[in-house]
Amino acid sequence: MVVMDERRAPIRRLDPSLAAKVAAGEVIERPASVVKELLENSIDAGATRVRVELAEGGQALIRVQDDGRGIPPEEVELAFQRHATSKMAALDDLFQIRTLGFRGEALPSIAAVAEVELASCCTDEGRGAAVGAHGAAVTRLSPRGLPPGTTVTVHDLFAAVPARLKYLKSRSGEVAAVQSVVAHYAMAYPALRLSLYSDGRPIFSSPGSGRLEDVVATLYGADVAARMLPIEGEHRGTRVWGLVTPPDISRPSRAYQSFFLNGRWVRNRMLAVALEDAYHTHLMVGRHPICVVYLSVPPDLVDVNVHPTKSEVKFLYDREVFAALRGAAGAAVLSTMPEPGKVLGGIDLPGEGGAGGEIEQGDLGLDAEASAMPLAARDEAVGPAPRRRADMMPALRVLGQVNSLYIIAEGPDGVYMVDQHAAHERVIFDELIAAAPDRPVEAQFLLEPLAVELSVAQFEALETCAEDLAGLGFAAEPFGAAAALVRAVPSILSAGDPAETLRELLEGRAARGEVADWRERALTTIACKSAVKAGQPLALEEMRQLLYRLETTARPRTCPHGRPTMILLSASQLEREFGRRG
Ligand code: ADP
Ligand code: MG
Repeated sequence: MVVMDERRAPIRRLDPSLAAKVAAGEVIERPASVVKELLENSIDAGATRVRVELAEGGQALIRVQDDGRGIPPEEVELAFQRHATSKMAALDDLFQIRTLGFRGEALPSIAAVAEVELASCCTDEGRGAAVGAHGAAVTRLSPRGLPPGTTVTVHDLFAAVPARLKYLKSRSGEVAAVQSVVAHYAMAYPALRLSLYSDGRPIFSSPGSGRLEDVVATLYGADVAARMLPIEGEHRGTRVWGLVTPPDISRPSRAYQSFFLNGRWVRNRMLAVALEDAYHTHLMVGRHPICVVYLSVPPDLVDVNVHPTKSEVKFLYDREVFAALRGAAGAAVLSTMPEPGKVLGGIDLPGEGGAGGEIEQGDLGLDAEASAMPLAARDEAVGPAPRRRADMMPALRVLGQVNSLYIIAEGPDGVYMVDQHAAHERVIFDELIAAAPDRPVEAQFLLEPLAVELSVAQFEALETCAEDLAGLGFAAEPFGAAAALVRAVPSILSAGDPAETLRELLEGRAARGEVADWRERALTTIACKSAVKAGQPLALEEMRQLLYRLETTARPRTCPHGRPTMILLSASQLEREFGRRG
């Protein structure tokens, strides 16, 4: 008699179909993973056009059709055997991988959790074959007239794995995940014509022109694409190239940064850190550049086999990769700086031929009249000067500007260094919100309406918030299928970039919806976009006006994002540093 311990089941071999489902779980998590694997197969097969179709978010149907080399009829069944691949023959090959696939796991994994049909026709032979695969069973289907290339159709994903189904997001969430995969392969392969349809509707298509700029334009808008800077660099065998945004175009998250290693979309935090290191001090905390960066590393110096879906990679020589990317991006960022010499310069004392003296006011985007209005004259026009809050910030005497970024000033208690951008942001924000939080922002009508290209999400947000935008000084309406027609912009923004500002407002709306503090956040954005930038030389008088206005704000020591506007080097600190006091 066998007595079973109730707390412990005996060790058993999993039956093969269960084992296959467990293994599939590593590779196939959701419709987007199926699309990724099938797309990679199409690319490995040399396809120039790939069409991806979804029904019901991919759960009912996923179809990927390519015009690649196809599979010979005698091999179609073999393609569904685990570890059957045409891409690797010996262990040495594992360290020389030049194809996207090599594990021979995708097709059997998909068949383990769905019903699959594969029809393929070799372009050179003109004959085709079709098979159906479900679980371990592969049956030959009679081929119909097949176009050259391969079509894989996946029905009822996870129908037999209810536990997986529970983890799927809403249909639109799954479509968005697929769209992200398709968009990334479009960036990785600009010569590939990729299209995505969901329930019969076209969602995305890439032009397939071979130019990365064209792909970026369809994804992020023509304006962004036109401003992107090419980067190029090499460091000990690691090559880097691609496009990055100049520091004045940024996004609140890293979702707009794409890295491709040897043709594969990868995620690796070190790459983002290396890129952003190049923007250090030119971007505010919490802002991130947009990029499409390709890296090529000798295949034996990178391990793509650390993760079943190969989206995470390990570099053998982290430092070389970091240096190559940091260097290439750094050169691009530096090329946008007005006068490289000044960036590294010391304190420019007014009257000694420094920045304060020689810069023409008209060059600053803050010409005499315009700068007087936002910075100082408004209160005088309105009435008596507001009460000075000496308790919060003393009156300061401007000494000069450092790095075209910091205003150096003397106060009763020491030397102040004021961040000109942060200070100006605070000034504008207070003008916009402190007096009357709900008062509409003063608008400036444009002589000619401005067409602003929008992403899908931005366009959808615009359709719901035109009225709220009007309260911010923007008169904007949907235009065509993916743009806004702007007839008025906030007057304060005259020196800023209204198109970029509008896009960012809509981006925030799309991300967070109609939340209570949307208007306040939107005003923060407008203040940020209207404020003088880092790298902008200021005349002495402009600096004086800026500090004067800052003194009168409610919270002069922080910008609307909560970062400090100034730091103090106290008189006692100076004394200590110079050894004047024990
Ligand atoms: P892997 O891509 O790792 O080799 P897969 O299971 O994804 O493994 O595919 C198995 C094999 O089937 C591939 O090695 C390839 O020879 C063939 N194959 C799969 N999809 C295609 C396709 N779209 N076009 C041509 N051949 C394909
Ligand atoms: Mg594959």
